[in-house]
Amino acid sequence: MKDIVEKLYSTGDLSDSELKELILTGDEEAADMLRTYADEVRRKYYGTKVFLRGLIEISSYCKNDCIYCGIRRSNREADRYRLEREDILSCCENGYGLGFRTFVMQGGEDAYFTDEVLVPIVSEIREKYPDCAITLSLGERSHESYKKLKDAGADRYLLRHEAASQELYSKLHPAQMSLENRKNCLFDLKSLGYQVGAGFMVGAPFQTADDIIADLRFLQELRPQMIGIGPFIPHHNTPFADEKGGTLGLTLRLLGILRLMFPEVLLPATTALGTIAPNGRELGLKTGCNVVMPNLSPVRVRKKYDLYDNKICTGEEAAECRGCLQRRIEASGYTVASERGDCISR
Ligand code: SAH
Repeated sequence: MKDIVEKLYSTGDLSDSELKELILTGDEEAADMLRTYADEVRRKYYGTKVFLRGLIEISSYCKNDCIYCGIRRSNREADRYRLEREDILSCCENGYGLGFRTFVMQGGEDAYFTDEVLVPIVSEIREKYPDCAITLSLGERSHESYKKLKDAGADRYLLRHEAASQELYSKLHPAQMSLENRKNCLFDLKSLGYQVGAGFMVGAPFQTADDIIADLRFLQELRPQMIGIGPFIPHHNTPFADEKGGTLGLTLRLLGILRLMFPEVLLPATTALGTIAPNGRELGLKTGCNVVMPNLSPVRVRKKYDLYDNKICTGEEAAECRGCLQRRIEASGYTVASERGDCISR
């Protein structure tokens, strides 16, 4: 196993069969080596910097029905909300004061947020905060819509591809959704000049090592600036309620592999990782992650953006989340960066 990690470190790639061995291994020594090399590479490109993204969860309405997701359309128990323009702008104001220089507007695919509604909001944030990056994560939209939002001032877009294998994709999504469309959206976003984030859940039901290899190969083809991965966590009101969640070990192994395959990529230590282990995000930072995304949403809606069970950070004000994460970052040996945090290979 050691020689495989060495090869990944020195060449940035592996054959499918080597990747499979590394994905499936329980070898502690390999895990330690991956972490050491991943940290060395992140320090070479990004030093000890960790970039903060202020996450504003703008709507829990969703027209889609992804089998794994707590805010899927079929979940009648979900408590739905959407933020108005004023709410979103006050989140930004609060966040700017706390030092955030990236705002991420994420939400379900809510028909209320047409281009007519969104474009003026994005333009207003762009005008008020010229030194900040605006990231959107609002699912699949048309090329035309992505273009209007880009022209209004959006810089980045997060759209996990979720599963690059057709077989797995169709087990995780209803028949109306298509992997082809999801991939086309990502290529559209890239061609429009967005900095793009793709990614997938680790340990999703039915996911095999071969599926994960397909995800890694797709990422090599897309070459996104950001890669978001986190463990799958079951939600009690979905058909996957009784499925097993993704493990800490596999998630960390994949974070290490990603850092070595994509040395310059922005890699978040996700909230889901912090949910399955109290020190999950710290371990992520030590295994190549260089981004964290504290929550800026108003506390009154936090629990309603309920993608999976036991999500952390749903009770604290933004300032508390910011302080807590800063302490965790510094205790892990890293520093909070004060800039926008663009990908160095942009
Ligand atoms: N509507 C947007 C935002 C989706 S929510 C979009 O389509 O991109 C953001 C991410 O949460 C999803 O991409 C998915 O990978 C993740 N997610 C959803 N349900 C989850 C679960 N049960 N466990 C872990 N992650 C989940």
